[in-house]
Amino acid sequence: MEKLALLGGTPIIKETPKELFRWPIIGKEDEEVALDVIRNNRYSGTDISEKFGEEFAAWQGVKYGLPFCNGTMSLAAAMFAIGLKEGDEMICTTKTYWASAAPANTFGVKTVFCNIDNNLSMDPTDIERCITPKTKAIMVVHYVAYPCDMDPIMEIAKKHNLKVIEDVSHAQGGLYKGKKLGTFGDVAAMSMMSGKSFAAGELGMFITNERKYYERALAYGHHERFDEKHIQECDDLRHYYYITMGAVKGRANQLCTALARVQLKYYDERCAEIRRAMNYFWDLLEGLPGIRPIRVDESTGSNMAGWYCPHGLYVAEELHGLSVNRFCEAVRAEIDGQCGPGGNECLHTHKFFTEFAVNKTDEDPTLQKSVDIECFSIPWFIHCDKEWIERYASGFRKVIENHEQLLEDDEKKKQQGRWIGTGSKVR
Ligand SMILES: *Cc1c(COP(=O)(O)O)cnc(C)c1O
Repeated sequence: MEKLALLGGTPIIKETPKELFRWPIIGKEDEEVALDVIRNNRYSGTDISEKFGEEFAAWQGVKYGLPFCNGTMSLAAAMFAIGLKEGDEMICTTKTYWASAAPANTFGVKTVFCNIDNNLSMDPTDIERCITPKTKAIMVVHYVAYPCDMDPIMEIAKKHNLKVIEDVSHAQGGLYKGKKLGTFGDVAAMSMMSGKSFAAGELGMFITNERKYYERALAYGHHERFDEKHIQECDDLRHYYYITMGAVKGRANQLCTALARVQLKYYDERCAEIRRAMNYFWDLLEGLPGIRPIRVDESTGSNMAGWYCPHGLYVAEELHGLSVNRFCEAVRAEIDGQCGPGGNECLHTHKFFTEFAVNKTDEDPTLQKSVDIECFSIPWFIHCDKEWIERYASGFRKVIENHEQLLEDDEKKKQQGRWIGTGSKVR
């Protein structure tokens, strides 16, 4: 038996090779476009942002792309675009970043949370349970880059005449059965914040094929383009020109859209490399007890995009009930970090929704199922360096094969997720 590093044995990796994980990849071209904005004071214009909006829409294969100052704002604009208003309800998966749901509160819209499946994604079989006469929309989140099962989701939406918003913050460029994520719903919105898969500082993007939704998103937060030149179809918006209807200033900083234009050029090839690396990592761990990959079979035409925030599913029963917290602690000791329990905390457990919101979310004991699904994060390999990936995989393998050493001092605490972005564990 090999002694685990957590218990005083020798770790597999003593120091993280930083280049393997550095993201985004920044080259001379990025630096030059950023300098041009700085030297010429072009932050607040819209020329660069308009170009990026067009290029991104073309890359997505949709008609309209509208950059916002961040993903949260683009999601609020998406809710406004499809006409969500006071008294309506929106169904959202409970395990996601807060911005998938919280902006609904600013419109007096109640969020109704639905369960996740074993890939941590919205469980399509739980959606109809959440529908009431007030339901107007489904917020679909391609969580940790796993493409949601869009066929049944779109079928349910059609049957009940519901609008669909896709939050593509984790999965830009990903495919579901050969079709790009973000093109299934009526509208899509996403973060392009510096830590995300498509990373360009602080940036968001709204996309749609419908002129009227594009115009409403403009009206929501782009005062400098909210005028007769840009509003062509939505006559009812004309009275409000020049003051945004969201009472927010949502346009993007052109330092970020300039970077985003360069990032877009290389994005697909960089994601393909990440997928090669991540698939190789999971192949090495195939069949081990206690863990399951969260990934798709690419032969179906689906893929994991830039494999943002990669996670695996944890099955404690297969490791004598070892807690996921202790498991991750032991892995971290072997590989110098990069393995944590829980993912995002389930949103229905937060008082923002159950106490503060204008239309409070109802308590729903069936959602405990989502809280109980255990998972852990794994390293996000940016390059397919097989030797290093093999070392990382052997760190996980070592903990699994020697997990009995950990059972004695295991506090058996339940999984602790995170309110991601704060670094805090609350429970
Ligand atoms: C990051 C994130 C957002 C919010 O985007 P920001 O750019 O940080 O405002 C929304 N939804 C999901 C799923 C995210 O991960």
